[in-house]
Amino acid sequence: MASEATSRSLLGVQDAEHPEWRPLLRVIKEALREAERPQWARLVPALEHPGRRGRPLLDGAVINIAPRLVGRWVRHILGIAAGAGTEAEPLARRVAAGWLDPLLLFESAVSQDVDRFHEVALVDRDYHGLLRGLASLIAMPMLQSCRRAWAERVPTDWAYGYCPICGGWPVLAEMRGLDGARHLRCGCCGGDWRTEWLRCPFCGEDDHEELGSLVSPDSLPRQTIEVCDRCGGYVKTITTLTPMRPEHVVLQDLATLVLDVVALEHDYRRPAAKGHEVAVSVVAEPSRLRDLLGLRP
Ligand SMILES: [Zn+2]
Ligand SMILES: [Zn+2]
Repeated sequence: MASEATSRSLLGVQDAEHPEWRPLLRVIKEALREAERPQWARLVPALEHPGRRGRPLLDGAVINIAPRLVGRWVRHILGIAAGAGTEAEPLARRVAAGWLDPLLLFESAVSQDVDRFHEVALVDRDYHGLLRGLASLIAMPMLQSCRRAWAERVPTDWAYGYCPICGGWPVLAEMRGLDGARHLRCGCCGGDWRTEWLRCPFCGEDDHEELGSLVSPDSLPRQTIEVCDRCGGYVKTITTLTPMRPEHVVLQDLATLVLDVVALEHDYRRPAAKGHEVAVSVVAEPSRLRDLLGLRP
């Protein structure tokens, strides 16, 4: 698959240039590979509403999941994260031992409800933002599949800073094409929505006195950081000729880490809270075999 091949080459370049990112790259690679599996497409729920008045399409979704697929995936990604030398080891051990329900972790991850994810995971501190990152990666195959199915259903006049599909904040902005239209991009589902040039995606500020931009001496040309002095947020901006592939947004986010460092040095931050609440219910599909045998779930 072309996108898979390109993802592999992007991952390869980053692996060679930044050996310190290998553990994280390994986990992202697994999530992107999993997102290509057709089984996830079958779990995409029916749309509950048309996404009007700022309501992300995922909000209110009821996902009938195949417990074996989701359980296998959660155990697998936690095992990879733990084996890659991250601090996910205690969580992976609890899930592997059956003390923690992988479906509950999955539900809170897909809702991008980091507080609930913390509660379910039984941790009271998120060391180095690890759990937030893990929650995004656990949710990624499901959210990328929803984006593939729903991309054409996003209202064309979506005017909000958060993702119209999953409600997450953008990780990047693209200044795209010859006319330089500004598009925001979601790292988790790959979502793509157009926005005005002078507007902070996080607080909606549009006063040019409050908005500015930074450049990094170490970054590639055509990469800047748009900052907002009202809320202290920032968004990395990349000039592109054609839309960045949805699966590559998470990789480009990692590849432009130097811009995050510059933003932090200037006291700008990504918002701690999520973009927009989304309520997602996960319902375990009864096994067909169990149905055939007439057994109770
Ligand atoms: Zn999204
Ligand atoms: Zn702002």
